[in-house]
Amino acid sequence: MQSLLDLVLPRECGGCEAAGTLWCGRCEDALRRPPVAIRPRCDPGVPCWALGTYSGPRRTAVLALKERNRHDVAAPLGRALAYAIEQLRMLGEIDPVELASLALIPAPSRRRAARARGGDPVERFSRAAASTFGTEHVTVSPLLRMGRGVRDSVGLGAAQRQENVAGKILVSMPKNTVPYSATDASDTTVLLVDDVLTTGATVSESICVLKHFGIRVDGVLVVAAV
Ligand SMILES: [Zn+2]
Repeated sequence: MQSLLDLVLPRECGGCEAAGTLWCGRCEDALRRPPVAIRPRCDPGVPCWALGTYSGPRRTAVLALKERNRHDVAAPLGRALAYAIEQLRMLGEIDPVELASLALIPAPSRRRAARARGGDPVERFSRAAASTFGTEHVTVSPLLRMGRGVRDSVGLGAAQRQENVAGKILVSMPKNTVPYSATDASDTTVLLVDDVLTTGATVSESICVLKHFGIRVDGVLVVAAV
C-alpha cells in the first residue's frame, strides 16, 4: 500500500527531504534542543525563545507546512515545541506544571494566506504540541487574526514591518469559548507561538492587543528566528 502511495505522493522527510520517510530520526534529533533566548529588534517586553535559527530542518519544515501543504510536518514541529516548553519549565524560565497550567496562543497569519494554505499552520502545530502533553490539559486559543491591509512582510525592514501590522491585529473570542479570564490568568502561563520571528513586529503588536483584552502573555516561543 505504501509503495502505491509513494507513486502518488512523494514520500520525503519534511525536514531534510531525504527519501523514504516523512520525517527522519536526524531531523527529530535536530529539533529536540533546548530553546535559545532571543532579543527581537521590536521588543515585545516579554522573554522570547526560539528552537533555533531559520535554517536546516527548521526552515525546511516551516516551508513544507506553509507552502507545500505538508500537514504531516505539524506533528514533529509540535513535538519539538512541546520539548522546548518542558525545557523552559525545567530551567525555571516559566512556571512548572504544579504552579500553572499552559495556554498557547498562535500568532496571527494573514487571512488570505492561511486560507490558501488550507488552514493556519501555526495553529496546526500548536495543537500538535498541546496533544503531546498527555493528561495535562494545554489550551490552544486562536484568538488573533490579521485584519485587512496587512501586506506580505517579505523584504520589509523593522520599522516597515511595525507599520504594516500596527492596529491591524484583531482579537476574536469564539462563541461559547472562554479561554481564560483575566482573573484566572495568574495561574496560567500564556505563550504566544509563531513559526518564524524576523523583527518581532507581529508578536509585539499581538501582545499589545491582547493586553487591552486583559490577557497577559508571559513569553514568546517560535520555531525559528531569522
Ligand atoms: Zn530529515
